Amino acid sequence: MHDYKNILIAVDLSASAEDVIKKAKNIADINNTKLTLIHAIDYIPYIGFGEGALITPTYTIPNEELIKNAKNTIDRLLNKMQLTHLDIIIEFGAATNEIVSYANEHNVDLIVVGSHGRHGVKLLLGATANGVLHHAPCDVLAIRITE
Ligand code: AMP
Repeated sequence: MHDYKNILIAVDLSASAEDVIKKAKNIADINNTKLTLIHAIDYIPYIGFGEGALITPTYTIPNEELIKNAKNTIDRLLNKMQLTHLDIIIEFGAATNEIVSYANEHNVDLIVVGSHGRHGVKLLLGATANGVLHHAPCDVLAIRITE
């Protein structure tokens, strides 16, 4: 197997995230590799309306709260898997763009994604997996998700 030095694991916080992380970690263990986990928050603000207000938006979810929630979920998962030596990156934006940009800017030599995530198991490859495969500057490993 290629001697990867810098692996990026893309995680969408779906149930399949654990499988994706496990497979990436197995490769990293063989090669003594740097592992980074990235999650993109592709957030379209939810607009709430106060009582009696017809069109005036009254709140959105603050970015800090979204980051905190994502970080808590990732921490819980990594604790459960007894993984501590990962860098965790949380970005706002479309997942494909954020994953590919990070890989470009940080000399990533392998990106590990699930074959599909929250966006449906009917496709052989989900939109993010497909986008990353097309635009990545490096190898991409798509972990087959069957559930
Ligand atoms: P999808 O193609 O969106 O069904 O998801 C396939 C895989 O892309 C997931 O298993 C993750 O590895 C990755 N992915 C999807 N959404 C995100 C996200 N928001 N942040 C990071 N990785 C993601």
